[in-house]
Amino acid sequence: METILLVEDNFSNFSLLEDIFLFDDIPARLVTVETGEEALNRAIEIQPILVLMDLRLPGIDGLETTEILKRNPLTRDIPVWAITAYAMNGDEERARAAGCCEYITKPVRALDLANRLRTFLDQPEREKAPT
Ligand code: MN
Repeated sequence: METILLVEDNFSNFSLLEDIFLFDDIPARLVTVETGEEALNRAIEIQPILVLMDLRLPGIDGLETTEILKRNPLTRDIPVWAITAYAMNGDEERARAAGCCEYITKPVRALDLANRLRTFLDQPEREKAPT
């Protein structure tokens, strides 16, 4: 089964995401890490098909973590979705400039995210993405 890597330092947020995977029939395994540093190591090791990236993290933040993932040939093709409580003007642009391809605002609506994940996992063109 394919793996999705969640980078989230807040317990109630990663519990919600873990529940989505448990109860909403998402055909992927979720691995959670709580810091950007861990995310960089785990992404290389497990080669997730998608990274869900909280932007506000202790240590290196989600934007910088995304930039590092996008500079590394071993991880640069993995799509990164920003998940953030930031709702300031320009934040989505900054997330996209760092390399995030989707921008999801908190509070995360479980059904919406489950639907987006299922749509992503169903895309036939995902199979042909360069590795
Ligand atoms: Mn956070």
